[in-house]
Amino acid sequence: RASRAFHPEDTIVDVSGVKVGGKKLVVMAGPCSIETPDQIHGIAKEVKKSGAAILRGGAFKPRTSPYSFQGLGEKGLDLLLSAARDNDLPVVTELMSADKIGTFLEKKIDLIQIGARNMQNFDLLKAVGRLNVPVLLKRGMSATIEEWLMSAEYIMSEGNHNVILCERGIRTFEKATRNTLDLSAIAAVKRMSHLPIIVDPSHATGKRWMVESMAMAAIAAGADGIMCEVHNDPENAWCDGAESITPETFDHMMKKLREIAPIV
Ligand code: PEP
Ligand code: MN
Repeated sequence: RASRAFHPEDTIVDVSGVKVGGKKLVVMAGPCSIETPDQIHGIAKEVKKSGAAILRGGAFKPRTSPYSFQGLGEKGLDLLLSAARDNDLPVVTELMSADKIGTFLEKKIDLIQIGARNMQNFDLLKAVGRLNVPVLLKRGMSATIEEWLMSAEYIMSEGNHNVILCERGIRTFEKATRNTLDLSAIAAVKRMSHLPIIVDPSHATGKRWMVESMAMAAIAAGADGIMCEVHNDPENAWCDGAESITPETFDHMMKKLREIAPIV
């Protein structure tokens, strides 16, 4: 179902009115994690002003250490939604476990993110496959493109065809960056599949000074959009500050992207 052979035309996924995979780029932006009401409301307002179409923010965080901040949970979802409502933006947020699906549906989360670490959590994939909510499927950090598309297949085979792929870097021997952004995955996915693909230059690089250039490269390579981390005070962010850009830098990046492609 994810294959171009089965479905030759590009798929456009509608996220509460925002069309991902159409002629215009879609930019999803916001903090790694929702922290405080002021933080998420402030960032939402700034990214909206610069042209983001969807607000991101994690409430359930897949952290390497169990002692690191794990996210605000349901309270975080409420803060995210209230900031999004105030700025007329749909939201994308990560679902880590099927037992929170009821909550995500009740709160009308617009786009459900499946994180890199859960890309092959097949029961979770099947569970979101039974929903009528679009899914953002991030590439596993050691997944081949074929394995990634098979994970999309798990979602689609249950009936949910609204899948957006997100390249977020893969593990290589290189240590200068957090992960290695696989730009060639964009071309490969476009050839193999009809699904839209966006790029996350934040987790791909782990370095805020690289985010703009890798976002530009992703768009030049044919990506349908960008998801990136924006924080009002990156030095003091509760999670992923090193790769988070300020609203000012985000605004600059959006201006550069507009020079190469129209943005939703
Ligand atoms: C995220 O986008 O918040 C995230 C945890 O990313 P990934 O799953 O790609 O590591
Ligand atoms: Mn993050």
